[in-house]
Amino acid sequence: MVLPLFGRLSSMSDDPIEKKPLYHFLPGSRCFSVGFYGCNLHCPFCQNWEISQTKDESAPAIEIRALINEALARRSPSIAFTYSEPAVHFEYLVKAMDMARSAGLRTVLVTNGCLSSAPAAELLARTDATNVDLKTWDAGIYREVLGGDLGAVRNFIELAAASCHVEVTTLVAPGIADDHGTIAGIAGFLAGVDKKIPLHLSAYHPAFHASDPPTDAALLLSLAQTAKGRLDYVYVGNLPSLGSDTRCKSCGAVLARRKGYSVQVVGLAQGPNGSLEKARCKACGTPAPFVLA
Ligand code: SF4
Repeated sequence: MVLPLFGRLSSMSDDPIEKKPLYHFLPGSRCFSVGFYGCNLHCPFCQNWEISQTKDESAPAIEIRALINEALARRSPSIAFTYSEPAVHFEYLVKAMDMARSAGLRTVLVTNGCLSSAPAAELLARTDATNVDLKTWDAGIYREVLGGDLGAVRNFIELAAASCHVEVTTLVAPGIADDHGTIAGIAGFLAGVDKKIPLHLSAYHPAFHASDPPTDAALLLSLAQTAKGRLDYVYVGNLPSLGSDTRCKSCGAVLARRKGYSVQVVGLAQGPNGSLEKARCKACGTPAPFVLA
């Protein structure tokens, strides 16, 4: 077996961690984000198809040590493997995650979750936070349209919830995940794993083979209401006109205010001795849902 693209990266960027999207993990921090080429799925609406469905074997290979040094030089508290599907570069990923953690970086995995249990467990053992795409609730669409496996993604989310911080994203793609039954199915499943898993409902825009018009804001908000009946934290994204604050589950006070990718954590009282780990809602004292340190 030869990995012709071992270490060949499509992109490196300093992103807000909210862009992954992760809203409850180190909110307001920067995240050094790295992308590869390739994906094990072929979603017709892929927003990153230029790197997920193509490859550039002439791209320079980056040594793992050099990559970690770059993240440290940028003073990023975390490194994310993202943009296309990082898990198809499994061997590089495992080594990079280990080296990142040894260097004091937190590791973030943004993935479609279509992995078997054994490699999933290997990756999750090295992951501090993950955002998993759960693209639809229809196993036939997953298999025939996207080339994926709903059962594998469900299994990945369950494994992840037992070992690291998890958030989930569903792109509201027409005919794939733009109806209340699909969103109710996804939210119901997540609630069975943990009601506190944040669900990001992301607006679709035409890309790659998909040409339907973009998601309407009213539809996105109405689907979010369906999910909110089942989950504690539901966010809408990819439409700059819509805000997505985090509110205390007990009293409704705003804990984090967001506009685009900028965030202000406003409603927290620190725990004993200034500890951030046990930060609480300033108004009512309920534990905050964030990983802050
Ligand atoms: S899983 Fe993500 S990167 Fe891969 S084809 Fe689908 S949308 Fe694109």
